[in-house]
Amino acid sequence: MSILENDTIQNDVYDYDLFVIGAGSGGVRLARMSANMGARVAVAEDRYLGGTCVNVGCVPKKLFVYASHVLEDLEDGVGYGWENKEKPKFNWQTLLTNKNTEIARLNTVYNNLLVNSGVEIIEGRARFVDKHTVNIKGKRITAKRIVIATGSWPFVPEFDGRDLAITSNELFFLKELPKTAVVVGGGYIAIEMAGILNGLGVDTTLVYRGDLFLRGFDDEVRHFVRDEITKKGVNLKFNDNVKALSKSEDKLIQVKYESGQEESAGLVLYATGRVPHTQDLGLENTDVELNAKGQIQVNTQFETSVDNIYALGDVTGGMQLTPVALAEGMYLAHKLFSTHEPELIDYTNIATAVFCQPNIATVGLTEKQANDAFDQIEVFVSSFKAMKHTLSGRDERSLMKVIVDKNTDKVLGVHMVGSDAGEIIQGIAIAIKAGATKKVFDQTIGIHPTAAEEFVTMREARI
Ligand code: FAD
Ligand code: NDP
Repeated sequence: MSILENDTIQNDVYDYDLFVIGAGSGGVRLARMSANMGARVAVAEDRYLGGTCVNVGCVPKKLFVYASHVLEDLEDGVGYGWENKEKPKFNWQTLLTNKNTEIARLNTVYNNLLVNSGVEIIEGRARFVDKHTVNIKGKRITAKRIVIATGSWPFVPEFDGRDLAITSNELFFLKELPKTAVVVGGGYIAIEMAGILNGLGVDTTLVYRGDLFLRGFDDEVRHFVRDEITKKGVNLKFNDNVKALSKSEDKLIQVKYESGQEESAGLVLYATGRVPHTQDLGLENTDVELNAKGQIQVNTQFETSVDNIYALGDVTGGMQLTPVALAEGMYLAHKLFSTHEPELIDYTNIATAVFCQPNIATVGLTEKQANDAFDQIEVFVSSFKAMKHTLSGRDERSLMKVIVDKNTDKVLGVHMVGSDAGEIIQGIAIAIKAGATKKVFDQTIGIHPTAAEEFVTMREARI
């Protein structure tokens, strides 16, 4: 594949054919792919190569999730004959050091991927000077096309004592693990972080302002997860919110709730959503339009309101997931520099997982969404104790749910709560994307003995 011959890339009016602001999931993919297609590309990064996912997101989070599960695994071993007389001690410093080493390795991998593709990495904050020019550390750089891939940043609402709260950014670098923690929020990050802290032995309270957390997920899944998380020992506090934080004499944080209740904690973590990272970007020097939520407004081809400026990933809103940013980076590289017009991204049936304990994973419609959109649906549900826990004795249950359009037999949604749900649903997502019917599920012969085989053996629809 070669770069477009008629493209002005051939002339040197600009320093680069493509300038990418932000070397995160989307920016790195776009920069590498574009350079591989022959474009002259530079990427600016002012914090860390690999962006949120690698440094303060998916990767360190998953490593912490593994860490937080170890004690349970050891406890489960007793029923299998492993004698465990002394409770093992957890060393937070070891985990931090090893995590940091792994992230540093990944930073180098990202550096090499970019450099080996011929992308120039420019360290520092990029600010628009005009639609073709950015300023980085006093140096002006011009490009024919500029892509904003600056990601998102934690949002913390205003309240008294806000400065005492931390966000997921800081959690990954805590000097010490506290004995007690309050986690505020009811989305992905709050649920995952509460699970991590609880699993590492921190007495954890999760505070959510509504009746039930995980808004947007299947209601049955939400209830099921509430029960499982409660069994794990997380204190759930719904229909309440933090009113104020203050420092108490014992160096703890005093938490005042709107309900009037109070408690003290060693740490208060806010996980109340993320906002587009557009501050200090010099957008005022361009005509790039934002939507009401402050996200950069783009069309299906990632074009902004300015003809040579594009945006992708978290900064544009949409699903804030790494594979989504990657797909957008890939699309845009092809759109700009390949001779083939790429297919528009299909955002339907994107599978996701919440790495709480046990995991949640989901693809397609919830029962309510399916009920609202289709005449008649069938719902197949199975809730069971996984085989592992017959001998471990752990009171943990799994849930599997399949939602089907009764008229066409097409599977509309699949949901799971249980060990390795993300791994299992990833495979099922392919079947859903291919338009599988329930009959196809039923005709599939299972792998025995697994939990996943339950998905191909559910025969009785719930009435
Ligand atoms: P980012 O990866 O955030 O990259 C943007 C980059 O731009 C950053 O490196 C930033 O420093 C840089 N930048 C910003 N402004 C400038 C500027 N002016 N000049 C130079 N550089 C700039 N997603 C999943 O799919 N699975 C998960 O398990 C998962 N877990 C997560 C856990 C946490 C705690 C968090 C916070 C997020 C998680 N996500 C997860 C979401 C995922 O990390 C994001 O959706 C993804 O990183 C978005 O990619 P991006 O390219 O849009 O932005
Ligand atoms: P989410 O948008 O998922 O959840 C935010 C939560 O905070 C909601 O429960 C919301 O409540 C609550 N909230 C918002 N404002 C306030 C407020 N003022 N006071 C109290 N509560 C408030 O955001 P997260 O921060 O959890 O994560 C951001 C995104 O990152 C996710 O949406 C996801 O796309 C991505 N991510 C993905 C992960 C994965 O794939 N495993 C893991 C981590 C993050 P309400 O529901 O009432 O609005």
